[in-house]
Amino acid sequence: MRALAHARRALVGATFLSTLLAPAAASAQAPEGRAAAVAPAPPQLVVFVTVDQLLPAYFERYADQLTGGLGRLYRGGAVFTNAFQDHAITETAPGHASTMSGRHPRSTGIVANNLGVNEEGAPLVGGGGPGASPFRFRGTVLYDWMRFRDPTARALSLSRKDRGAILPMGRAGREVYWYATDGRMTTSTWYRDTLPAWVQGFNARRLPHGHAGRTWSLLLPEEAYAEEDSIPLEDAGRSFLFPHRLPADTARAVAALPGFPWMDEVLTHFALEGVARMELGARAGHTDLLAMSLSTTDAVGHRWGPDSREIHDQVLRLDRTLGAFVDSLYRLRDSATIAFALTADHGVASYPGLIARRTALPVPFVDVRPVLAANAAALRARNLPPSAMWWDDGVLYVDRPVLRAGGVDPDSAIRAMATALRRVPGVARVDEWRTLAQRDTVRDAIARRWLHMIPPDIDAPLLVSLAPGALYAGTTSATHGTPYDFNAHVPLMFYGPWFVPGRYRQFTSVVDMAPTLARVVGVPPSEALDGRVLLPALVPALRAAPRR
Ligand SMILES: [Zn+2]
Repeated sequence: MRALAHARRALVGATFLSTLLAPAAASAQAPEGRAAAVAPAPPQLVVFVTVDQLLPAYFERYADQLTGGLGRLYRGGAVFTNAFQDHAITETAPGHASTMSGRHPRSTGIVANNLGVNEEGAPLVGGGGPGASPFRFRGTVLYDWMRFRDPTARALSLSRKDRGAILPMGRAGREVYWYATDGRMTTSTWYRDTLPAWVQGFNARRLPHGHAGRTWSLLLPEEAYAEEDSIPLEDAGRSFLFPHRLPADTARAVAALPGFPWMDEVLTHFALEGVARMELGARAGHTDLLAMSLSTTDAVGHRWGPDSREIHDQVLRLDRTLGAFVDSLYRLRDSATIAFALTADHGVASYPGLIARRTALPVPFVDVRPVLAANAAALRARNLPPSAMWWDDGVLYVDRPVLRAGGVDPDSAIRAMATALRRVPGVARVDEWRTLAQRDTVRDAIARRWLHMIPPDIDAPLLVSLAPGALYAGTTSATHGTPYDFNAHVPLMFYGPWFVPGRYRQFTSVVDMAPTLARVVGVPPSEALDGRVLLPALVPALRAAPRR
C-alpha cells in the first residue's frame, strides 16, 4: 500500500495518470471485483532497456539520489525484487538472448560470450571491431511475434556492444547498431552493406570525439558518497582515485569512451535520433520497439567493482542520462503510449581482494589449468584436435565421433576428467548434464541453472561450479559468470499505464518479460516459451486471456 501511494505520488504530472493509472492501482487492491472493463490500447512504442551488469542492490543503496530515469521506473513502476537470469553462465550474450525471447539459453542456443555473436563472415560496415551476427540464435523473439501480427512493425536495437544490440532482436532485427572502436555507430554485413543516411548523419556529428580530454569527476558533492575512494585494489591498483580522464587524443579517447559514463549518453542520443528518423511509436494502432543496452556500468563494475565510488557515480550518471532520455522521448511522443521495461543481463561479485578483506580469508583462486593441460597433452599424443574435448566457462564440451575415431572411449575420458576436476581445490561441484533433470531443480538452483543453460544437441557432459566467491585463477578484476545469486539476481521492472506500480516479491525470471510484454502489445508468442506472463503486474483488463 505504501509502495503504491509512493508510486502514485512519484507519477503525479504524468499525462496518463488521471485516466489509466489511478483505476488500475485502485483495482489492484481488489483484482477480481473491479476489473476495468476496457483494456488500455496497446502501446505505440515499447522501450526495452538492458543495463549491462546492474545489481538490484544499487536501487536501494542509492535510492535517495536516484532522481532521473532509474528513480522514475523504480518508484513508479511494477518492480520485481526477486528476479533472476535463471541460468548458469551469467554473461552478456546469454543474458541478452533471454531478455526478449522469453527462453533460457538451452533454447536460444546462446550459451556463452565466446559462443555468442562472433562471426568472421559478417564484418562491420566500415570496420572498427570483429564481425558479428545472430546466426547462432535459435527461435523467435518479441519482435517476430509483433511482425506476424503487423508486418509494418518497426524496431531499432542499439548498444555499445555487438551482442547487446544483436541478441535482444534474435534473427528478426534489421536496424541493429553498435559502437565501433573508431567512434562510429555501425552494424555488420549480416544486416546491411551500407549505413542508412540517418546513422551516417549521426556519425558525422562526432559526439564521441567531443569527449576527448574530458575529466570524470563526482556528480554530487563528496559527502554524498559513503564509499572510500582510496582502495588500491580497484583497477588493479592503477587508477583508483577520482577524477578519471579521457585521453586528449581523439582516436584514443573514442576507443576509451566505453569505460566512461558519457558512452551511455551517446547511445541515448543515438536512440532518440533513431526514434525520430525511423518514426518509431508515431503511428496510432501500431506498436514499434526500441531496444537499448547500456554497457558502461559493466565496464566500470569490472574495473572498480560493485562497492566502489566509481560504480556509485556511474549509476547516478546513468540515472540522469536515462532521465533526460525519457523526458526527451516524452517530448517526441505521448507518454501514455510508451511502455518501458528494464532489466540486466547479469550481476557482479565484489573485487577479488575485497572479498578476501571482508571474509578475512584469502580469495580461493581455483586453478583447473593443470587438469586441462594434461588432457590436452593426452589428446595431442593421440593426434586428436583440441576440439575433441575443450573447456570454456566451466563447461567441458566433447566431440564424441572425433574421440572415437582416435580410439578414445568418450565416456571413460569424460569420467576421468570429472574425477580430476573434482579433486581441484575450490571446485564445489561437477554436474553431469545427463542427470541434471533428475535433480531437485526447485530447491537446487545450481542444477536448475545448468539445466537451463545447455541445448540438448550441444554435447557438454560436465558442468563445473566453483565454491561461492571462488574465482578462476588469473581473474584480476571484479567479475560475473557463475550460477550463484550474486551474479544471477537482476532488476526487473515495467513502467507505463499497462502496469500496476508496486513491489512484487515472488520469484521471477527475465524470461517472463517477453511474454508479459507480448500480452501488453496484444500479440501471441509463436512458440513455446520458458517464461510466463507476470499477471499481477498487469492492469486487470490485461490479466484475462489475450486479445485475438
Ligand atoms: Zn561483464
